[in-house]
Amino acid sequence: MALHKSMFDEFGLGTIWVRRAPQPDEPAALAEPVTPDRSTAIPLNRAAAAELARTASSVPGHESTDALSALDAVLSAAQKNQGVVREAPMARSEPPESPTFDDIPWLDDIPAEARTEPETIDETANDIASLDWDVLAGRVSVCERCKLCERRTNAVFGVGDRDADWMLIGEAPGENEDKLGEPFVGQAGKLLDSMLHSVALSREDNVFIANVIKCRPPGNRNPEVDEVARCEPYLKRQVALVKPKLIVALGRFAAQSLLKTEASIASLRGRVHDYEGVPVIVTYHPAYLLRSLPDKAKAWADLCLAQATYRESLKVADGA
Ligand code: SF4
Repeated sequence: MALHKSMFDEFGLGTIWVRRAPQPDEPAALAEPVTPDRSTAIPLNRAAAAELARTASSVPGHESTDALSALDAVLSAAQKNQGVVREAPMARSEPPESPTFDDIPWLDDIPAEARTEPETIDETANDIASLDWDVLAGRVSVCERCKLCERRTNAVFGVGDRDADWMLIGEAPGENEDKLGEPFVGQAGKLLDSMLHSVALSREDNVFIANVIKCRPPGNRNPEVDEVARCEPYLKRQVALVKPKLIVALGRFAAQSLLKTEASIASLRGRVHDYEGVPVIVTYHPAYLLRSLPDKAKAWADLCLAQATYRESLKVADGA
């Protein structure tokens, strides 16, 4: 029985024909690769495989009865008869070759002009530094500059008089602040309001209150260095817009972040520091004072120093 070439196609062997070198005395058309005719393909069933094996056993040197071995033997014999050379032995169960690392277009291979550089902190910081109040507040409410955006309920922008002489800066929103979108609510907020009233200040009239970090860190953990760095442009812009004559840093973290120091709050209290050209007084966080009543007296002393510093700054502003 003559083997139909569609049987080779059925085994996926139809595409392995290669162009051989044209012979000097034959027309060029004979050197064209053979294209399998799949329109006449037939499925290989058991009977066909058995027939194939029988045919193969007649090929000198190939007595295997395995259908695929037989097919290889028959194919080799047919190729010899037709004067066609196979490129390489057929792999029977090799998976398709997967790309190697060198096949993957790494970033280095992409032309420099086609690359999109990631946005840097400084580029957006420059942009933030020119925003007005409303745009700044809107930007904070949808900010995704750090991972704290993922679990916040509300970004806490700040509250109070945007033309205040006093600016109070805390650490980061807690659970209640995150829910309400306002800084210093709950018991700590009430204590802060009482302290402010004692020196004729209030968040409704003449104080602006903000945090170093605008979104709540999960579990009230300390903000990370990267989160502080990414959020800082908002605070800087708030300070630039408010133009306060005095800043009060509430708590160790706020003081250390503003003053770029790791010094203890005990060593920072009782002195006048500087942030962006504005005098800074450091005192305890109201939440700490709720747990440590004896330190309320120290906080009162800090407020007195703040008042004195504020008066001094007024004198300087008046040129006295
Ligand atoms: S914490 Fe600050 S930087 Fe991070 S997402 Fe909130 S507003 Fe943006």
